[in-house]
Amino acid sequence: MPQTQIAAGVQSASLSESWALWLKLVSAGATVALTSVLVVLTLSLYTRRDQYTPSAVHFTLANLATAGYVVSDTSVHLGIALANTGLIEIAYRVALCVLPLALAAYICVYWCLTCAGWPSRRRLGITYGIGLFAMALPWIDSPYMVVADTRLRFSGSNVFLDYGAAAGPFFALCLGVFAFVSYRVLRLAAAQNSAHISLLTGFGFTIFVLCGLLDASRELGHSILPVDALALSCVLFQTVALAVMVRHYSLTLDERRAHSAQLEHATDRANRDALSGLYNRGFFEDYMTRPGVAARGGLLFVDIDHFKTINDNYGHATGDRLIQQLATCLCEATREHDIVCRWGGDEFVILLELSGDCETAKPAIERLVRALDQASVDGPDGLTLSASMGYAEFDHGQWQEALQRADAALYEAKRGGRKRVRIAG
Ligand code: GH3
Ligand code: MG
Repeated sequence: MPQTQIAAGVQSASLSESWALWLKLVSAGATVALTSVLVVLTLSLYTRRDQYTPSAVHFTLANLATAGYVVSDTSVHLGIALANTGLIEIAYRVALCVLPLALAAYICVYWCLTCAGWPSRRRLGITYGIGLFAMALPWIDSPYMVVADTRLRFSGSNVFLDYGAAAGPFFALCLGVFAFVSYRVLRLAAAQNSAHISLLTGFGFTIFVLCGLLDASRELGHSILPVDALALSCVLFQTVALAVMVRHYSLTLDERRAHSAQLEHATDRANRDALSGLYNRGFFEDYMTRPGVAARGGLLFVDIDHFKTINDNYGHATGDRLIQQLATCLCEATREHDIVCRWGGDEFVILLELSGDCETAKPAIERLVRALDQASVDGPDGLTLSASMGYAEFDHGQWQEALQRADAALYEAKRGGRKRVRIAG
């Protein structure tokens, strides 16, 4: 194309106004930036196996294609400003050919929403296959295809290649598919009560159709808006999409936090004895199998003296309360890293872990004995809290073996008159 003709075209396209070109460049930059953030968010959803990952992946692909359209469209105008016909032609064809790809990805978003997951490979293959096939059409020059000739035409404030006979049906089909899929997505969103998807689809469809019509009228020479509405609408749409995604992301994180708190709570309940609140036998046995636990220290077996008589004389409820009081007393008299467990009935087992070679369990046991002696019992007159204890140090063997020795030492303490401690030799 002769330079004079391009210059004339540039004049008529009003693109000599640098602010219009700058606005286009800024819109394209914003589109690329927003698309990149959407890609990062989608990758993050993917790695977290979020339920919306499939639709988010195809939605982001559609966005990438749309960003490709905006960048190509901007390149067309850069080509005009630089009087570079090669750039104009290639950018124009790219802008046309990414439209079917965006639509194919959009249809796949719909497939993902209908099956609430990944659609079948066959369905994805056919959809993207048709999209890729349609992408090739703008690259074939023929009077019967989308592009008839590489000749450029300037009209009003825009420029375009010489369209072929299929251009009208091509654009009509794109718009028709876009409208049909949007309608189906909106219906699906209404059925699933999904305000986010309704908002995105409704907003996206309205804004793209309006701006598409505005830009089409600009191409025909009727300039209603002095700026490129389609590029700006893309930025607007992506901002809303980003806001929706970020909101979904924060809701998911909140849900995850609440879920893990619930799980922690449920696990803690499963590990504890309901009456005393101490660890239960199941937890203790699991804990003892952890590597390195039964290395240094030992086990203390505690059993309430004459508990049957207490139950008989004062009632079961008083017996229960005494178990709770003993549990509190044992917890207060042990260190934070000692594990206190209700073994069953009126029996308790305490894991006394020792940190150094020279450290012995004696001070810990003495502290417990003192605490039991000084414990003020809340209950009927005459009720006292007395317990016998047997301690056995770990001896490079299984922890069960230490427990047996502690049990035997406890038996000795009972036989020796109760309310005393015996240490296994
Ligand atoms: P000893 O001094 O030899 O230990 O005598 P004891 O009476 O304490 O005998 P033993 O330890 O065998 O008795 C345990 C009793 O604890 C038997 C059972 O009735 C009572 N018991 C077990 N679980 C509970 C409970 O949850 N609440 C109450 N109140 N009593 C319980
Ligand atoms: Mg007892």
